Amino acid sequence: LSSEKINVKPEVGSLETVSSRGLQVDVRDAVVQFGDLTVLRDLDLTIPSGQFLAIVGRSGCGKSTLLRLLAGLERASQGTVSLGGGASAGLRPDVRVMFQDARLLPWKTVLDNVRIGVEGGDKAKALEALELVGLADRAKEWPSVLSGGQRQRVALARALVGDPSLLLFDEPLGALDALTRIEMQQLIERLWLERKFTAVLVTHDVSEAVALADRVVLVENGIIAQDTSIALARPREKDNGFTHYESSIL
Ligand code: ADP
Ligand code: MG
Repeated sequence: LSSEKINVKPEVGSLETVSSRGLQVDVRDAVVQFGDLTVLRDLDLTIPSGQFLAIVGRSGCGKSTLLRLLAGLERASQGTVSLGGGASAGLRPDVRVMFQDARLLPWKTVLDNVRIGVEGGDKAKALEALELVGLADRAKEWPSVLSGGQRQRVALARALVGDPSLLLFDEPLGALDALTRIEMQQLIERLWLERKFTAVLVTHDVSEAVALADRVVLVENGIIAQDTSIALARPREKDNGFTHYESSIL
């Protein structure tokens, strides 16, 4: 990772990264405490609509706490979180979270697990989402017969099926082997390019952050300690639906 090449002045909200589909996220002076432990202290973060933001930082620095705060699963004792201009009040249907473990229900088929993600359990939409992740032919099977990577694909289909405007990923590829991880990275990027949701990826893998995101923020001591735009250093080129990275910055 060449810091020289990615240290481009942040251009948050540049035309390339903004879409009308995704939710804008505004975190103002957020404080999150667990007893005596202050995990986030006066944290500020604005994520423009349609951006792909990566959050990196040492284990225990508060990345997952910040993601849960964006998801409405955690409350700030001070400060505010607003999504699309409105105050955040708990989990919204258009905000989806994907975790390191797929969290599929073992007593439901692959298809029924995806149907959980869509209003009314719309079967056609669930199948369409499975098609997007390349698993339509496994719809009737049980999660237990799938590989770890396939289970994560199902979790991705379940997250995508309602056409979310904000997708939050908490180390979703952390448990996968290297090749499966690269496939999943390409899939996530392709879907993000097509669907134009706002994406936030927590990862401890800096090269994964650079490969996927427009912008990488470092959480340290409860605040955003570094904020780096990488969109200008790595133009996205589309060719047959797949994106090629400039190998020089990886
Ligand atoms: P990261 O995802 O960066 O590894 P976390 O956000 O999970 O870090 O955790 C940040 C700190 O907050 C850690 O010290 C962790 O032990 C603590 N923490 C997280 N959630 C809770 C909780 N529900 N209760 C108490 N402490 C917590
Ligand atoms: Mg974490």
